[in-house]
Amino acid sequence: MVTELRLDPLSGRWAAIRPQRADRPDAFVDRTPWPTEQRSNCPFCKEHANDEQVLAETSEDNNWTARVVANRYPAFDTDEPFVVFNKGPVFTEATAGGTHEVVVFSPDHDKSFAELTNSEVADVMSLLKERLTAHAATKNLRYTQVIINAGREAGASVEHPHGQLLGISFVPRELAEEQGQFSRFVAGCLLCVALDAETASGRRTVLDSTHALVVAPYWSSVPYEMLVLPRNHGTHVHNEAPETLTGIGLAIRDCLAALKRTVGNVAYNVVLHSAPYNHGEPFHWHVHLWPKATTRAGFEMGTGVSINVMPPEVAAEQLRANLEV
Ligand SMILES: [Zn+2]
Ligand SMILES: [Zn+2]
Ligand SMILES: [Zn+2]
Repeated sequence: MVTELRLDPLSGRWAAIRPQRADRPDAFVDRTPWPTEQRSNCPFCKEHANDEQVLAETSEDNNWTARVVANRYPAFDTDEPFVVFNKGPVFTEATAGGTHEVVVFSPDHDKSFAELTNSEVADVMSLLKERLTAHAATKNLRYTQVIINAGREAGASVEHPHGQLLGISFVPRELAEEQGQFSRFVAGCLLCVALDAETASGRRTVLDSTHALVVAPYWSSVPYEMLVLPRNHGTHVHNEAPETLTGIGLAIRDCLAALKRTVGNVAYNVVLHSAPYNHGEPFHWHVHLWPKATTRAGFEMGTGVSINVMPPEVAAEQLRANLEV
């Protein structure tokens, strides 16, 4: 059997599609359970709601339904600009200011993004738009990375479902790489073309809605990887209309629910890529869903080439069958 290499046009990296032999045991593992103290000491539950609140959606009885709080242990803070110092032939350092916020999806400790109601998804997406608009207008913030880490294997340190916004004073390498790939692609917008090509093929479609096409991308580097493509070509998340953002949020929710029905309670990362604040075209914002069903091992780290045992065509078929829209 020849291993098939497929090029990821966003990252420029190869993925090796190497289906598992059918008789091999299931290699996908559920996330590890949390220690019980997590629940009683949860900083995001209603009864422990003392964190510095940045912004909230509230219900009629004035309780919050979703809210943004400052991270107690920020990875970045201060409004320092990005300034590089050369301290020796191989010692380059830079000051990096920024801001680190947490979006708590619901006061309910057990309600994951996949379980939010339509109006709860709309609330979360509206908070996101408002905070990103504020970040865009903040001096020295050049990019905000929006993520959801779900499960300890995916890097979560708190069980209560939440997302994070890391506003930083520099454009990180992954974004710069993607921007470069958009610039080098000459046949139009890279992701508008991908959207058309995947629609025409249909083989990797997971969800097809008014606002989004979700596919198991052709170049999937991990089993059940998904790419959420907004149908509307836009560079920045915070410039999108509220109904577009809600539509994308609902697509993410439904695909995460399908993932759980398909492979069980695996950990995952959701990664949103929007153009850096001072840049625009060519870019098409999008969302990566990366399940953590397998471990990134030495070969992947040494080569940047990932070996994917689940062909995206098969993954899409299974996910599609488990989608309840
Ligand atoms: Zn909680
Ligand atoms: Zn586009
Ligand atoms: Zn991306």
